[in-house]
Amino acid sequence: MISKASACVATAALLFQGLSSAAATTGGCQALAAAGLSSQIYYPADANYIAREASYWAANAPLSPLCIVQPRNTAEVQKVVKAIAGSSGNFTVRSGGHGHWRGASDIHNGVTIDLGLFTDVTVDKKTMIASIGPGPNWATVFKTLEAQGAMVAGGRDGGVGIGGFLTGGGNSYYTGMQGFGADNVVNFEVVLADGRVVNANAKTNSDLWKALKGGSGNFGIVTRFDMQAFTAVPLWGGLSAAERKYGDTIITELINFTNNNAKNPEDALIVNFTYNPGMFTEIVVAMVTVDVKGAVAPPAFEQIAKVPTVLADLTTRSMSNIATSYLLAPGSQNVWYSLTFRADRDIVSHIAALHDEMVAKLLTVLPAADFTTQCLFQPIPAYIAQDRSNAKGGNVLGLDAVKDNALLWLITAAVQTEEQLAIITPYISELSAASNAYAKAKGGAVDWVYLNYADGSQNPLASYGAKNVKFMKDVAKKYDPKAIFQNKVTGAFRLNRI
Ligand SMILES: Cc1cc2nc3c(=O)[nH]c(=O)nc-3n(C[C@H](O)[C@H](O)[C@H](O)COP(=O)(O)OP(=O)(O)OC[C@H]3O[C@@H](n4cnc5c(N)ncnc54)[C@H](O)[C@@H]3O)c2cc1C
Repeated sequence: MISKASACVATAALLFQGLSSAAATTGGCQALAAAGLSSQIYYPADANYIAREASYWAANAPLSPLCIVQPRNTAEVQKVVKAIAGSSGNFTVRSGGHGHWRGASDIHNGVTIDLGLFTDVTVDKKTMIASIGPGPNWATVFKTLEAQGAMVAGGRDGGVGIGGFLTGGGNSYYTGMQGFGADNVVNFEVVLADGRVVNANAKTNSDLWKALKGGSGNFGIVTRFDMQAFTAVPLWGGLSAAERKYGDTIITELINFTNNNAKNPEDALIVNFTYNPGMFTEIVVAMVTVDVKGAVAPPAFEQIAKVPTVLADLTTRSMSNIATSYLLAPGSQNVWYSLTFRADRDIVSHIAALHDEMVAKLLTVLPAADFTTQCLFQPIPAYIAQDRSNAKGGNVLGLDAVKDNALLWLITAAVQTEEQLAIITPYISELSAASNAYAKAKGGAVDWVYLNYADGSQNPLASYGAKNVKFMKDVAKKYDPKAIFQNKVTGAFRLNRI
């Protein structure tokens, strides 16, 4: 409750800032109106504007666009892009609004292009190609596809949006079997900076196809994702949690699991050292164990299953069920940082201990009930990029250059107010820096930052490696020679700010 109220106050304050400087920079909105899009433009006093700004997942994500435009179809996106590209205004693109840092997918003094009306989800039963607009969330996509016996490699939290997830990589329960979400996009429909609409796939505009698999919104606006679907079968698993004292045993199993996952790619594991006072007063080790083929309690989790739990919700269920069972609630102020490490017991153990220390310190500066943390490890064994991604045409993430079995690490904190966010942010960035320093000293740092988890101060695109950066820049130059999608988008991760 407190978080929603403070989000409204913050949003109102930002609206005022936006209004006061509006006169100088209304270029984009005026150009949209002149292009005949008035019915789809929302200004700060409009109910639709207020509702769309309130629909971002993180309370720190909404900014103060001069106007929001909600195109209804690809032809309108073409008009929108042409109008804004030819105007003096800046813009940003927003799909599901789950970008967690300020500036990820909203803008001050510019236009937010909101793709929320692109809600189509269909599947061709013959080709098993699912065509998905950037507007819905994954829960809706899964429910729609399941009704037709199909499934795709989408997000694990059903609230997450399509556009950011798929253009940033996309780690799902199916990654071991199918590669990243982006690897499963067989065709992107894209509106380019000059207003042309093109398809990008293995045969047509294949360089753009590859660049969009990890390169985010640097090349255009994706108006449809055609994904290779597969037959939906019930999966098994869910959430469990153990007392912190079992951490070392669980870390040992996390490392074993990661190193052996190539033999059982249908199994997925997440290990999360978390302080969540709404559920437990102490730090616990939460685990998500999933078998996407539906095997009950498969051998890969045999040792983990022996750890005594304080919570266990392991069952046979649909993808849409698991994706809606543990939704991370919207409305908090959030800070996320992400790094990648070699799967090394000592590194994980050290970082978990640093997290313990950080939570102890935070308890001296914030009310115990006002914050949550997650210190979360996800296996990224080498076979995923080398076998799965490459077999599907490759992407620009650069993970195929990582020879080690790695762990994707995410540290998050969620608080109630902007003031608390200012307090907590240095703790998270320092924990990130200390973890990186320790892993480096141990020779276990992997120079890769996952764009979809990174803070705005991090540099994920650069971490893809020089070859991929050059490739993405060449592709951007070819399809957007005036660099509209870099120069006029002031937030988000952009190639010109690497
Ligand atoms: C609660 C929660 C759970 C999550 N779980 C997972 C998970 O399981 N696995 C995982 O990999 N990630 C996960 N994430 C991270 C998630 O993938 C990113 O936040 C992602 O950006 C969300 O996509 P979105 O469309 O909602 O983002 P938005 O905030 O709408 O957009 C993010 C970025 O993508 C760009 N973009 C969006 N749509 C388009 C488009 N159509 N064309 C071009 N550019 C576009 C935007 O301009 C922006 O830069 C999670 C995030 C949250 C908050």
